[in-house]
Amino acid sequence: MSAKKDTKYIFVTGGVLSSLGKGIASASIATLLKKAGLKVSILKADPYINVDPGTMSPLEHGEVFVTDDGAETDLDLGHYERFLDENLSQNNNFTTGRVYSSVIEKERRGDYLGKTIQVIPHIVNEITDRFKKAGEGKDVLIIEIGGTVGDIEGQPFLEAIRAMRIELGKKRSMNVHLTLVPFIKAAGELKTKPTQHSVGELRRIGITPDMIICRSERPLSKELKDKIAISCGVEKNCVIESPDCKSIYQIPIVFLQQDILTPISECLDLGELKVDMNEWNELVRRVNEPTNKVRIAFVGKYLELKESYKSLTEALIHSGANLDTKVDIKWCDSERIDFENVDEILKDVDGVLVAGGFGKRGIEGKMEAIKYARTHKIPYLGICLGMQLALIEFARDVLGIKDANSVEFDENTKEPIIFLIDEFIDSHGKKQLRTHKSPLGGTMRLGGYEYNIKPNSLLSKIYSGVKTAKERHRHRFEANPKYKEKFEKSGLIVSGESDGLIEAVELKDHPFFIGVQFHPEFTSRLTKPNPVITGFLSAALKNSK
Ligand code: GLN
Repeated sequence: MSAKKDTKYIFVTGGVLSSLGKGIASASIATLLKKAGLKVSILKADPYINVDPGTMSPLEHGEVFVTDDGAETDLDLGHYERFLDENLSQNNNFTTGRVYSSVIEKERRGDYLGKTIQVIPHIVNEITDRFKKAGEGKDVLIIEIGGTVGDIEGQPFLEAIRAMRIELGKKRSMNVHLTLVPFIKAAGELKTKPTQHSVGELRRIGITPDMIICRSERPLSKELKDKIAISCGVEKNCVIESPDCKSIYQIPIVFLQQDILTPISECLDLGELKVDMNEWNELVRRVNEPTNKVRIAFVGKYLELKESYKSLTEALIHSGANLDTKVDIKWCDSERIDFENVDEILKDVDGVLVAGGFGKRGIEGKMEAIKYARTHKIPYLGICLGMQLALIEFARDVLGIKDANSVEFDENTKEPIIFLIDEFIDSHGKKQLRTHKSPLGGTMRLGGYEYNIKPNSLLSKIYSGVKTAKERHRHRFEANPKYKEKFEKSGLIVSGESDGLIEAVELKDHPFFIGVQFHPEFTSRLTKPNPVITGFLSAALKNSK
């Protein structure tokens, strides 16, 4: 596949350490270019061997982000969407595992006509083809390579960049290399050597960086930046610093203040780039210095690694900024909540949030928290598992169905409030089997689905009266419509439905008690927060102590 004539590419690599914020730096550059009026997209290439992150433990990999078209992707795609305010797709993230599996599939089919299949050219070509596909129709595609330069598994990706840059020719690509400039306390100074070494490593592979972004705890002096420029062989205005900031949403502004767009435009021949960041600046101000405050109990079980709830914590920031409110999260480990201590744990919060999850561990504690919010009339939002447990709790306590359960926790339950349907239509309109026993990957209801909102419900109010909304899913089980009538007779009404599936429920006699089968956090953006989360926070604000 040849690269489309006019798409330009920015390859973002990292050196020294991982977790330096390459994703945020990439998203920030993308945001500035989009605000300058260009058609921009962004892609993450992950060197690990899993075909996708869908089956990885949240403890291993943080959150699995779900795109509108139902791909289970790296959490960096969440950052990209939140910054860029664009829906990305399965073309915007792939792994080494995905590359190999498609090359092997082609080999089995005989597509390579008996040739010996090798990393160069077959694997590398598969990678560049995917880069080019994601760049189609765009002015600029930003490609972030996971991991750091020097990793064995990252080499085919770097080779793909090297080869593609030659093919593209002048002014059509640039390499941005992100490194760490550590402050060494004993010496009392910032050290540039790790940056020089990592640029050396990049050069050895045949890639010359055009811009260096330096992560550092301390500000970099002009002399130090110039030293990095000279020792690494980049122009002086191409050394950009990325200091620690209170909020990640400040990074585009910090980059802009250093005039990052001038060297990018020179490198890629993009002409004059002007941006208006007024709205963004005001939102960032509200993120950093909000007027109001609410305290939300976040009940979950992966609290050791908050990264696994990344989209949700970011969505709370977006809705908070919109309401000029700081969201103070009280992290509550569901395995430690019981009947005895629930009052002590939740008495000082303004709202209770039960996030999504899988498996039995911690569900009893979550249901104690739900019951507390229900009976004490504290605003409650239950997401996915949080909705399913709200129904089970209500069935047990209000409807008196003592054995109420989910098939996920008891396969043979006599009262399957939450059950498994045999088949469903996926977000591409294809019929899919959904069985409990099939291999873990790929059997879930994934991606964006439209649903109908019940008129005059609380849900309808928070969506400003619209009749339908599209939200993203990631779950295997469903609420059982067999119980709908019983629930509604007792005041728990179904306020969202699609094709006979229950998508949202709410309590009639409660200031705010909503459960949603979908994940509102996946569509929240800084400039466009999700109404369900904003609705929940404004109810909590009203209830604020
Ligand atoms: N475990 C539940 C299911 O598979 C809920 C999933 C979730 O909360 N994302 O249906």
